[in-house]
Amino acid sequence: MSAPSEPLRLLLLADDASWTAQLDACLAQLGQNVSVISAPSWAVASSLLENPRQALLLSTPACLPAADDSQLPLILLLESEPDEAPPGVCDWLVRGNLTPDALRRCLRYARERQQMQDALQLLAEQDALTGIANRQGFQTLLAARLAESEGRGVTLGHLDLDNFRHANDALGYQGGDSLILQVVARIKAELQNGDQLARLGSDEFALLLDTRRDPQRAERLATRLTAALAEPYWVEGESLLVGCSLGLAHARVGSTADPLMWHAHIAMQQAKSQQGCTFHIYDERVNRSARNRADQEGELRRALRRDELELHYQPRLCLESGRIVGLEALVRWQHSEHGLLYPNEFVPLAEESGLIVPLGYWVISRALRDMQWLRGLGMPALHMAINLSFRQFQDSQLLPTLRRLIDERGVDAQWLEFELTETAVMRRSDQVQQTMLALARLGVRFSLDDFGTGFSSFVHLNNLPITLLKIDKSFVGGMGERAENRQLVRAMINLAHNLNLQVVGEGVENTEQLALLRQFGCDQVQGYLISKALPLNELARFLVIGLRQPLLGFKL
Ligand code: C2E
Ligand code: CA
Ligand code: CA
Repeated sequence: MSAPSEPLRLLLLADDASWTAQLDACLAQLGQNVSVISAPSWAVASSLLENPRQALLLSTPACLPAADDSQLPLILLLESEPDEAPPGVCDWLVRGNLTPDALRRCLRYARERQQMQDALQLLAEQDALTGIANRQGFQTLLAARLAESEGRGVTLGHLDLDNFRHANDALGYQGGDSLILQVVARIKAELQNGDQLARLGSDEFALLLDTRRDPQRAERLATRLTAALAEPYWVEGESLLVGCSLGLAHARVGSTADPLMWHAHIAMQQAKSQQGCTFHIYDERVNRSARNRADQEGELRRALRRDELELHYQPRLCLESGRIVGLEALVRWQHSEHGLLYPNEFVPLAEESGLIVPLGYWVISRALRDMQWLRGLGMPALHMAINLSFRQFQDSQLLPTLRRLIDERGVDAQWLEFELTETAVMRRSDQVQQTMLALARLGVRFSLDDFGTGFSSFVHLNNLPITLLKIDKSFVGGMGERAENRQLVRAMINLAHNLNLQVVGEGVENTEQLALLRQFGCDQVQGYLISKALPLNELARFLVIGLRQPLLGFKL
C-alpha cells in the first residue's frame, strides 16, 4: 500500500484535450500529491509508466484499452450520466458534475478498492501455513520469470516428501504442520536471492532457481538440500526421519511453464524410485518414460473410441429415511490386456493430457443414459453425482454441451449433481463461479468432494451454488482410532450445517463409523458398508432389493 507521501499516479486517456484541462483545474484545488500522465492511447501510456500496477486509469469511452490489457482500476469519463452502471468500471465522472470534491471521493474509492484487491490476490496466492507462495502463486511467478528471462538461467525443482501422510497420521495435524515448517526453514536456508519456493500441495514443493550466472549451481544446491532434508526432525519431543525426492528441469530458450513443470515432475518420480533423500535431473533417459506416457495417452484415446470405458455406480444412503437417495458414477477402464483399471490409474493422465474433457463428456452422457434406463425400470428418481475435474471447467463448451446432453436425454436437471474438489473450485475461482452459477440455473446441483483434504475459503464457498459437502474418507476412516478425528468430523458436519449444506460421509466401512456419523447428525453416507460401486445391472438388482426392504438390513 502506498505511503501518503508517494504521489498518486493518474493515467489520463482522453480524445478531447478539454478533459485534461478540467481535471487539472480540479486537482490543483485538491492540493493532493498527484502525478498525471496524459496520453492518446493505452499503448503509449503504458510505455511511460514505470510500475503500471500502481496507477488509476481515467479514460473516455473512445480511448479505453482492450478488455484485459490494463487491469488498472478504471474511472470512466462521460459527457452525460449513463442509464445504468457501465460494466467493468470502478466508477465514473460526468463532465457537468465534475467538482474537486467529486473527484477526490472518486479517486479515493478507486484506490482503496485496488488495495483491497491486491491484498486478496496476495491471500489467494499464498500458502496459509508457511506464508510462501501456493500453487497458484507459483504459476504466476514461473510464468513471469520465463517471460522475463526467455528461459535462460531458470531451473525448476519439484520436491516431494516421502511418506508424509504416514508421518501426519502418526503425529497428528499439529505435528504435521510443525514438520512442514521445519522443512520449509531448511529449504529456505539453502536458497539465494532470486530463488523462489512454493508449496504445491500438502507435501509437495516447487523451487524456482536462478542459474543465470552459474549453470552448475542447481546440482550443487540439490546435493546440499537433499542432505539437509535427510537430517532428523524434532517434532513434539520425538525425532523422525523423512525421505524426499527432488526433480530438476532446466528451462531452454522458449520453454513454457507447463512442459517444464511436467519435466521436473518426471525427474522427481525418477528420484522417488530410490530410497532416502535423492534428486534427479531431467534428461534423455527420463525422456523415454515421457514417450511412454505418449503411448499411454494414445491407448486411452483409443479406449474412448472403442468404448472400453464403463461406469460403475456407488449408492448413497439417507440416514433419516434409510433409503438410497443417490448414486455416484465412477469410471473404469476395461483394458484388453490389463483387465479392469481404476481411475487412479488413468484419470491423472487424462487430466494432464486434456483427454479428461472428452472422457468427461462420455461419462456425463453415459450417466444420463443410465439414469433414464433406471427410470424406465420404474425406479424412483435418484440423484446422479458425476465427478468433474478442474480441466473440464476450462472448456468453453461445457455449458452448451451439458445443456444439449440434458435436452437430448430428456432428464430432469434437478437430479443431476456434479462433484468438485475444494482445490478445483478455488483455482481460477471467478471463472469456475460463473460456470457453476450458469449450470445451477439449469437446475443442476453441486457438491464439494473430498472435503478437508484441500483448501477453500468460506467466503468463497458461501458464494457458490453448493448444496452438499462430502467428508473425505480419510477422516471417516480415522474416526475409530482417534478422538481428534471424531472431533474433526463432528466439527465438519456442524460447519456444513451452518453453511446450510447437507453432509455426506464417504468411505463408511463399518457400523461403528455409521453410528458415529448418525450421532453427529450426518445426513447421508456412502461406502463399502452400504455397497461398493456396481456395474449397472448389479446396481439395478441392488436397488430392487432395497425397494422392498428400505432399511437395507442396517440398524439405523
Ligand atoms: P472419489 O470421488 O473420492 O470417489 C470415491 C472413491 O472411494 C471411489 O474410488 C470409491 O470406489 C472409493 N470408495 C467408496 N467407498 C469406499 C469405502 O468404503 N472405503 C474405501 N477405502 N474406498 C471407498 P474410485 O472409483 O477408485 O475413484 C477414485 C477417484 O477417481 C474418485 O474419488 C474421483 O476423484 C476420480 N474419478 C472417478 N470417476 C471419475 C470421473 O468420471 N471423472 C473424474 N474427473 N474423476 C473421476
Ligand atoms: Ca467423488
Ligand atoms: Ca470423494
